[in-house]
Amino acid sequence: MIPPGSTIGIIGGGQLGRMLSIAAAQLGYKCHIFDPHEQPCAADVAACHTRAAFGDAAALEAFAAAVDVATYEFENLPVEPLAALGDKLQPTTRSLAIAQDRATEKEFIESCGARVAPWRPISCLADVTAAVLKVGLPLVLKTRRYGYDGKGQAWIHSRRDEQAAWQAIGEEPAIAEAGVAFAAEYSVILARWADGRHAFWDSPRNEHREGILRLSTVPGGELVAPQVEEARAAALRIAEALDHVGVLTVEFFASADGPVVNEIAPRVHNSGHWTIEGAVTSQFEQHIRAICGLPPGVTGLTRGHAVMENLIGDAVNRWPELAAERGAHLHIYGKGEARPGRKMGHVTRVVR
Ligand code: AMP
Repeated sequence: MIPPGSTIGIIGGGQLGRMLSIAAAQLGYKCHIFDPHEQPCAADVAACHTRAAFGDAAALEAFAAAVDVATYEFENLPVEPLAALGDKLQPTTRSLAIAQDRATEKEFIESCGARVAPWRPISCLADVTAAVLKVGLPLVLKTRRYGYDGKGQAWIHSRRDEQAAWQAIGEEPAIAEAGVAFAAEYSVILARWADGRHAFWDSPRNEHREGILRLSTVPGGELVAPQVEEARAAALRIAEALDHVGVLTVEFFASADGPVVNEIAPRVHNSGHWTIEGAVTSQFEQHIRAICGLPPGVTGLTRGHAVMENLIGDAVNRWPELAAERGAHLHIYGKGEARPGRKMGHVTRVVR
């Protein structure tokens, strides 16, 4: 067990690292952020910040010596240099390596007996044409690596779109995936301990626009509820096969055939932000509990419903009105410039 008073290293200094640091501080831990930016928003609320490239092996070695346990808050990290952290890294690089490559991720999800949309690996334009013929239309091309919030994706609705879509994703190694006719999107968020104990939160229904999450609502409603049992079983098989320690999020489409996995995130997730006020124990606190070996916290709802709304780009300028709204929990990440598509904050409303 890593007791309060110890130092938790967090690789990545964005809003997820910030909310993890706040939860860790409540339990008496200190956080040390590892991030290449000058003033990452997590460093504002942490004890210490190492400014270095994610692939800097010497800096990671010094970081490993300075922390008692370490974790990561996003996936786009070079895996090999993280070996410097040895057993201190939770979850391990296995969860990271699988989640950061869409082709490896799909194969792994299928090997766990979970459903994914029909897909093909793509390395050239001829593969795109072959995928259109085999898988059918519509189809979405997604780069294998470095995609997030709908970036690195291009849709193909007719044969005429093939070349433009291939160029739009930068002619990078990719996957082609069938468009899923879903009734709703939702996620399973779970935390798992090294000894196999685990806990789920209620599954939120997630609504995206332009590939970016806008709203998460719990309970997820009538389109989501009938699928949750099967989706949880699939998510737990994935967590167990990874021997994952910490929070794991699995995003699903509610299809007529049942749950279809979209992707996995080996970390706390935007669709779990509502747990800060909407659940007895938040995903951030639970992640800290799991990686430090503290007992699991209760994950039930604090009240009947919670709705989390993301503040994207200049939507954060609504803060005076949101700060004045009775009962609205306003979170601003302190990121500076409100660029279009940038997640600047969120607001959660918890009601009976
Ligand atoms: P992703 O970055 O893969 O999570 O994709 C972002 C969003 O694009 C998803 O949340 C969906 O709304 C949409 N999307 C991605 N893949 C598919 C698909 N195969 N079929 C339908 N919609 C998709």
